[in-house]
Amino acid sequence: MSDDAREPSRPGRGPGMLVVYTGDGKGKTTAALGLAARAVGRGLSVGVMQFIKGKWSTGERTFFVGLDGVEFLVMGLGFTWDSDDISRDSAAARAAWETSSAWIREGAHDVVVLDELTYAINYGFLDEESVRRVLLDRADEVDVVVTGRSAPASLIEAADLVTEMRAVKHPFVEGRRARPGIDY
Ligand code: ATP
Ligand code: MG
Repeated sequence: MSDDAREPSRPGRGPGMLVVYTGDGKGKTTAALGLAARAVGRGLSVGVMQFIKGKWSTGERTFFVGLDGVEFLVMGLGFTWDSDDISRDSAAARAAWETSSAWIREGAHDVVVLDELTYAINYGFLDEESVRRVLLDRADEVDVVVTGRSAPASLIEAADLVTEMRAVKHPFVEGRRARPGIDY
């Protein structure tokens, strides 16, 4: 064993995978970011795009932003969210997709996480078929991880690995509030 905790494993990891974490249970974003941490530990380059409004701070953003080998972007940053303007949400989602789809096409990162991408598709901000095509035509060896509830059937069909989180219990149902370090 080397002293270095990081053991770069590239190149030659073989064809990349499309991974989908979906379902109503908690753990989709957590799983995707856990995978990202594992990849960083392997010396891989990781791109994370969160398709959420970026005005709230989260533990994961604080942790990953500025970490070596990681590009961590939040869709909403750079936009103002004064009103619940749907056309603004749509423009932000499309801008986020433009950046992250370029990563995937060009192989800018070994692993690309598209967190909550399913919402951008399900709200009609992004075209489902165009997304599917980019995910399938990804650069060799690039792994893509998509998260979000209600993943479209075409994404599930295109994926190599799909896990559905099932809500068995969630404290929110009993009125317990979101917890720093656990929920955000
Ligand atoms: P996490 O980010 O904790 O891994 P997630 O990505 O699976 O959760 P999302 O649908 O993105 O879940 O929702 C994010 C927020 O909603 C989190 O604060 C999470 O605790 C909460 N949440 C997730 N699942 C449930 C549920 N079944 N009931 C109530 N709240 C939930
Ligand atoms: Mg999530």
